[in-house]
Amino acid sequence: MEHKASSNFIKNIINEDLKSGKVDHIITRFPPEPNGYLHIGHAKSIILNFELADEFKGKTHLRFDDTNPVKEDTEYVESIKEDVTWLGYKWDELFFASDYFEEMYNRAVLLIKKGKAYVCDSTAEEIRKMRGSLIEVGQKSPYRDRSVEENLELFERMRQGEFKDGQKVLRAKIDMDSPNINMRDPVLYRIAHANHHNTGDKWCIYPMYDFAHPLEDAIEGVTHSICTLEFEDHRPLYDWVIRECEMEKVPHQYEFARLNITNTVMSKRKLKQLVDEHVVDGWDDPRMPTISGLRRKGYTPEAIRSFAREIGVAKADSVVDSKMLEFFIREDLKLKAPRTMAVLEPLKVVITNYPADQVEMLEAEINSENPEMGTRQIPFSREIYIEQDDFMENPPAKYFRLFPGNEVRLKNAYFIKCNDIVKDEAGKVIELHCTYDPETKSGTGFTGRKVKGTIHWVEASQAVPAEFRQYEPLILDQEEDDDTSFLEHINPNSLEIVQGFVEANIKDSKPQDKFQFFRHGYFNVDPLSLKQGKLIFNRIVSLKSSFQLNK
Ligand code: ATP
Ligand code: MG
Repeated sequence: MEHKASSNFIKNIINEDLKSGKVDHIITRFPPEPNGYLHIGHAKSIILNFELADEFKGKTHLRFDDTNPVKEDTEYVESIKEDVTWLGYKWDELFFASDYFEEMYNRAVLLIKKGKAYVCDSTAEEIRKMRGSLIEVGQKSPYRDRSVEENLELFERMRQGEFKDGQKVLRAKIDMDSPNINMRDPVLYRIAHANHHNTGDKWCIYPMYDFAHPLEDAIEGVTHSICTLEFEDHRPLYDWVIRECEMEKVPHQYEFARLNITNTVMSKRKLKQLVDEHVVDGWDDPRMPTISGLRRKGYTPEAIRSFAREIGVAKADSVVDSKMLEFFIREDLKLKAPRTMAVLEPLKVVITNYPADQVEMLEAEINSENPEMGTRQIPFSREIYIEQDDFMENPPAKYFRLFPGNEVRLKNAYFIKCNDIVKDEAGKVIELHCTYDPETKSGTGFTGRKVKGTIHWVEASQAVPAEFRQYEPLILDQEEDDDTSFLEHINPNSLEIVQGFVEANIKDSKPQDKFQFFRHGYFNVDPLSLKQGKLIFNRIVSLKSSFQLNK
């Protein structure tokens, strides 16, 4: 694939750093802000960071970048830990950026003492205007030349809570003429009188990302700080903070492309909006690209890891086809998932020449692609269910399934022929009367005649009622997926719920058990099954796709 060429540019850098002696071991980190649940984009970053450390015998820290009290919550902290663990990774250390608030404050004081930071009374709007643009230099703040003493006193009073939110900020004193707007006296601290999930009311000033992040990396001894491309222009500021704060350990930032996938949105802010506006049923709704949503839908960590490895690490943003993710779950489940029959929209069939009160057990393979999984016993009797879709009263040409007078094979059982149909008062077909031919039993090598159609079925007296949830993409028209309009492009038919039956031998299935339902696709038992006392299956993916990996 085209990504492959650059897929290990970070590995090359690490190799060189180790060879040249720039570092003697590596430390990476995954630094989520606990302001939402993780999505598949985060999975890419997790897999990259943990696997690099693994390959080079280094360490990975899980660090909560919790510097913005208003949006953060312990619910998110817990979900993030769960998701990283589920993906198969163990952090060597767990940190909270908020544990470094005192140290960060001291480093800010150091900057003030060096004349490299000042307290500014301009409003956010004024600061924005005075920053200039790509073609216009910035304007200096009227507070830029405050004395060190005055700055120290004001910063201390900011910390003591003497000012309101937005009344003052601490800014770096760098260069208002810099061609890089990030270097035009960026804000380092803001006032926020808000309760923090970790530090409570201890602080009312909070460090900005661009100040906090390099310090966090340096404090922890992170060597390779990997982030997404939009931070490329922030790298000079990252290096400035490390240098001017006189950090002992010097981390380096490297950027790689964000993962985007077709037919979904990939930002916690937008995902939160979908949850808050009840477009979906929570962060773990199987239609969500969150790790918890994918898990509930039936994705496996193995499939997500294979997907992430395949897309690799690129230097240019791209959008990956959601079918590629589906490809990897099919690959993973193909040999693992037991096969069984499920009838999603049932139609009763009475086999009129089969003895009443007789139930025979038929043998079938659990997975025809993996004979080692052994066989299962399927009951067969006079009454069975088939799919409504597998019968037509007036079929078009080339319809090979059941219709009056036609004969089909029942998967793993016998040939049956349709003789009669029963309709309700409204004229809807509610029952078929068929006959079977005992000579045609599956596995006996019958060659007397051929039929063109094979359909699946479930024996009626032992059939287990089940609900099936079938998902379609959440977002239509990917190109329209911009900040404002994505809600207008929600697929109104992203979930279809139908009722039917599954084979008796899977009646004791547990949440997260996965099956291949003959002709329908791969399905996962939803955790809600336990609460609702009934089997609920989420369709993970249909059986076939035109998608090919172009190796
Ligand atoms: P979002 O915009 O979805 O909120 P974020 O970047 O703000 O994402 P963080 O919690 O700050 O979320 O991200 C934690 C880590 O995950 C960061 O290192 C970030 O670069 C990485 N990351 C986030 N989204 C993606 C993505 N789509 N592809 C790859 N890495 C990502
Ligand atoms: Mg963020």
